Formats: sequence, structure tokens, C-alpha cells
Amino acid sequence: GKMPTINFGAGPAKMPEDVMRQAQREFVFYGNTGLSVIEMSHRSSHYENINQSSQDTLRRILKVPDNYKILFLQGGGTGMFAAVAMNLMGRTGTADYLVTGSWSAKAAKEAAKYGKVNLVVPKANKYTEIPPPETWNLDSNASYLYYCANETVHGVEFQYVPESNGVPLVADMSSNFLSRPFDVSKFGVIFAGAQKNVGPSGVTLVIVREDLLGNALPICPLVFDFTVMAQDNSLHNTPPTFGVYFTGLVFKWIEEKGGVEKMAEWAKAKSSLVYDTIDQSNGFYSCPVNPECRSRMNIPFRIKTEELEQLFLKEAQSKGMIQLKGHRIVGGIRASLYNAVTLDETNTLVQFMKEFMKSHQ
Ligand code: PMP
Repeated sequence: GKMPTINFGAGPAKMPEDVMRQAQREFVFYGNTGLSVIEMSHRSSHYENINQSSQDTLRRILKVPDNYKILFLQGGGTGMFAAVAMNLMGRTGTADYLVTGSWSAKAAKEAAKYGKVNLVVPKANKYTEIPPPETWNLDSNASYLYYCANETVHGVEFQYVPESNGVPLVADMSSNFLSRPFDVSKFGVIFAGAQKNVGPSGVTLVIVREDLLGNALPICPLVFDFTVMAQDNSLHNTPPTFGVYFTGLVFKWIEEKGGVEKMAEWAKAKSSLVYDTIDQSNGFYSCPVNPECRSRMNIPFRIKTEELEQLFLKEAQSKGMIQLKGHRIVGGIRASLYNAVTLDETNTLVQFMKEFMKSHQ
């Protein structure tokens, strides 16, 4: 039977139960194929249908324009740190990086292997805010402007799409993909590892504007070459077939629930519950992030003392609330509220936070 846990992990993270049940029902024999998805040839018509259907559903829910390709790759977010540079850096040899947390910092470091990286904002010693756009040092000759839409560790999220003045914009949306609507046409490349809002780890989503294809550095491995992968409809080599199937189910689930607009509504409601509890705690709980860029997906917070933090994690665990420990870089607590985490589950956390505060103030 199901252990009554509530998973607040940052990723791999909670998946919609309905989707997991469906995948379970279809696991051994998919439709009338007599096969499991994991046993199918990726060259079979059955798998081609799965590949196409997952793509088409994503295109519908995000209204992806026709001049964009959707790719299902491997290599995770970290693979894309290199892939983005290898595919785009060749345009001018330099790229702009907006570093607002540990993930964009890692991406900038990786990109520096392939060209000149210009840091758009001064190095921060703590990531708790996004410097205002007027202060950004943008290079009009950059191959692209890179940013991380949601910093999973530091809980810093852009609530707007940065203006890049015609330079192709690249976004790492690994931890807030499909949590709100956005205008795809403002981007050159969007990528996301699946293991937060979308599906199992192992599949990495890329949305790339067609006119940016054809610029890969000669050293770019085939499996990371967006042009090759686009030409072959993500079937150049063996794709992560089960992941592509599962993400397709998650896309359909989002569509049935009311689309990314509904996901944004939920995200706002859930994150506000937690932030309000923190802000009304008279300093018992604290979140260091500037309210203008607080993440709706990952909420890092501290409790008055480290002893209380340990106790909080222990008591939460005993009540079935798991994976609440903050990332080792920042410590404390982190509650991740991805699409599959319900308002009820968030309420359970908030009730616990209030009771815990009462008994330890
Ligand atoms: N970018 C962001 C925003 C992330 O949260 C993560 C992983 N948590 C990564 C990139 C790296 O992804 P992966 O582990 O799939 O390489």
C-alpha cells in the first residue's frame, strides 16, 4: 500500500498520482501492442506515435510557434550547460551570462570552455535578489544571453522575461517549466531537465528557434547537436523512450487540469501560503530572498536556530513530510512545491509550521 508521505523534494520530485497509475496500468502491455514501451524499438510506428504525441501536446499547452523545434534529449540540465554553448557560441565567440544563483553560475563556468563568457552582473556572494535590468552590462555582440528562470537551490525566480535587445535569449527552466504561461517567441532556446515538473530524470526538453540551428561547433557531439536532433525528430539515436512517453502523459494531465494557466494559479496559491506563514512569524522563520524574486517552486527558509531546524525536519518526517532539508550550500529548510504537490498538501505543511512555531517560540 501507499505510505502516507508528502514529497517536498527539489527533484526528482513528486509526480501526479493519476499519471503514475496510468503508466502502471499501461506498463506491461501498452495499448494493443502486446509490448511495454520500454521494450519497443524506437524505429517502430508505435514509438513514433508516442514521440509525436508528446511533442504535439507540449506544443499545444505552451502554444509553441511553428518556427520552433521541440527536442527530447539526454544529458540533463548539466548536459545542456555544455550543449547550449556548443550549439550557439560559434555565432560570435562570446556569450552573456546573467548569474543569479548556483545553477547559472555552473552554466557560465561550463560555457567558458567553449568561448568567452561575459558576466552581466557582478559576482554576488549571496544570491538573494536579481539586480535591476538597468544595471546589466549587456554585450550587443553576444551569441546569446543566458539566464536561469528559477534557481532551485537559492529560491530566486524571474517573474518576467529579461529583455535581450534582439540577442537570442536562452533560459534554463529546469525547475519552473510548465508552472506558468510564457511567450515562447521571446526565446532562442529553452531547456529543462524533466525531473521536477515534467517526468522522470533521463529526458531533457529543448525548444529551439529554427534560425539558430546550423551553428554548432565542430567538436559538438552528435547527441548534443540541436541541428542533427531536430532533423531526425529526436530519433537520431536511441532516445529515452520511457521518459518521452511519461512526459507526454504529464503534458496531457496539465492540459486536462486547465493548462499552464491553472498551474500558475496553483503555484501562486501554494507558495503564498508558505511565504505568508514565514512573513507573519515575527522572525521565527525567515526567507532571505527579496520578495520580488521569490520562487513559487522552491522556498528556502531558516528557523531561529539550527537545533530547531533539525527538530523541524525530524518532526516533519515523522508526520510523513519528506525531502524538506535545504540544499547543503544554503542549509536550513527547502519546500519545493512543484505542479504535482497539491494545495491540501501545502496546507498540511503550513499547519505544521504554525504548530511548530507555537511550541518552540
Ligand atoms: N538547472 C537547474 C535550475 C536545476 O535545478 C538543476 C538540477 N537540480 C540543473 C540545472 C542540473 O540538472 P541535472 O541534474 O539534470 O544535470
